[in-house]
Amino acid sequence: MTEYPTADVLVVGSGIAGCAAALAAARDGADVLVATKAERPEQTSSDWAQGGIATTRGDPESLKADILDASDGEADPEAVDVLVEDAADAVEDVLVDTLDVPFDEAGDGFDFAREAAHSEERILHVDASTGQHVLRPFLSFLDERDGVRIAEDTAALDLITDEGRVCGALLDRDPETGESSTTGVPAFAGSTVLATGGIGSLYRRSTNPAGATGDGVAMAALAGADVEDAEYVQFHPTAYDDADPFLLSEAVRGEGALLRNADGERFMPDYHEAAELAPRDVVARAVARERAATGEVTLDVSPLDFAGDFPDLAATCESRGVDWESGIPVAPCEHFLCGGVDVDSEGRASLDRLFAVGECARTGVHGANRLASTSLLEGLVWGLRAGEAATGRDPAVVEPPELLDRDPDLPAGFAEEKFHRLRRVMDEYVGLRRSESDLKRAQSVLRRLKGEVDAYVRTRTARDLYELRNAAVTGLLVARAAGENEQSAGCHYRAEEPVDAGH
Ligand SMILES: Cc1cc2nc3c(=O)[nH]c(=O)nc-3n(C[C@H](O)[C@H](O)[C@H](O)COP(=O)(O)OP(=O)(O)OC[C@H]3O[C@@H](n4cnc5c(N)ncnc54)[C@H](O)[C@@H]3O)c2cc1C
Repeated sequence: MTEYPTADVLVVGSGIAGCAAALAAARDGADVLVATKAERPEQTSSDWAQGGIATTRGDPESLKADILDASDGEADPEAVDVLVEDAADAVEDVLVDTLDVPFDEAGDGFDFAREAAHSEERILHVDASTGQHVLRPFLSFLDERDGVRIAEDTAALDLITDEGRVCGALLDRDPETGESSTTGVPAFAGSTVLATGGIGSLYRRSTNPAGATGDGVAMAALAGADVEDAEYVQFHPTAYDDADPFLLSEAVRGEGALLRNADGERFMPDYHEAAELAPRDVVARAVARERAATGEVTLDVSPLDFAGDFPDLAATCESRGVDWESGIPVAPCEHFLCGGVDVDSEGRASLDRLFAVGECARTGVHGANRLASTSLLEGLVWGLRAGEAATGRDPAVVEPPELLDRDPDLPAGFAEEKFHRLRRVMDEYVGLRRSESDLKRAQSVLRRLKGEVDAYVRTRTARDLYELRNAAVTGLLVARAAGENEQSAGCHYRAEEPVDAGH
């Protein structure tokens, strides 16, 4: 048989979750291959993370209580226990001792910040650009580490399965030589860890970088793995109101910024006792309603020293021509998928030898709504756990799927036109508010779209075609789960009336 690339552990994705899995597996002596679509660190949400990473300060129970409250009662308390019990050790071991992340300090300790729906100051941060200060040293550290190979600009197209177990993935490049392939290159592994991040590219406006097309969720589902809680798509309330939005972290409201409608009125106290610090879903719907009623919502940063406390955000505003001194126009936009590939406390999916970690996984920690700054922590904790659990198996080299020499390109404009349709459907029918008729319409359009895309997948290997297929599959999973769940909870808001009708 032809020699194909092998590894003990194949990790797909190089955000915080993939890096943590690779580190843990390598520490356990495994030979690790990381295949990532990203060519640069900034092509991951992890690099873009702003506010920081939550940790426990002595009392894990208080973080647990806040997570359960924010989740609208839908989080799994046992999963939350795993997160809060591992939090402090994982942060100290990896971020502080191994990577030496320069977290902001105050006095003789860390400068713990507070964000919406947190009952105390417990968020470690570096200014409001924490992600890059975590991810870049992480990638550099792994680059130097024996036993870890990182293949950049290399996408997983499909999982390879044999008799119900996952044996690796078909890649669009040879991870050893970097050569792209018109047949796809099978990479075999003892275990495969999906760490492919979020689904922002399914929506017209998202805080995520391009390429967040739900690949891991779709590949796992197509291979037969269980996906849960897909309806819980979180919309962040304060993204800059533009076709190309940027996030204004919750930390800004944590420091005292206020939301005002077009009449200059502060409105959040009318919606929730915690006002601007209410859970994200409550603030997002309130912002949408006030925008619909008055035309605009702005983030008033005058109560704080914005340029002093958030120099990176102030610089972003300036580079985008936003005069933050007169209020920053904001609107909700897609931010985070709370559900995903269903996994246990070690990141094990329902298929043998398949793991999923980070945003593409559903650990049960977030329930119907994620508490701010818990995603980096979840990626770190579950990445470490899954990386360790994934070791100890030899690569399962099986007869690969039939490798046909296929056309690497798509007809001009094909993916663009279909993505445009997909995003319109997701925005209009599977957004902040979902109604029964809209969800039915969404499923029917997405099914048709997937059918059109499938016809091309048989004859072509273009990466954007697979991204489109994955987006269609994941979009369908979201729309279907939203249709099946008739109860509003957290960020899944079922209502027949538009979001601007009443409080
Ligand atoms: C602007 C912004 C600010 C945020 N701020 C915070 C914050 O302050 N605190 C917090 O806790 N969370 C924050 N979040 C959320 C958090 O950053 C993400 O949920 C988290 O980083 C996801 O990590 P991940 O490793 O799962 O995925 P990502 O970091 O998105 O990485 C996914 C990786 O998978 C790769 N990939 C995807 N598909 C494939 C494929 N088919 N083949 C190969 N590779 C693939 C991508 O290239 C990428 O390398 C923020 C998110 C955004 C967008």
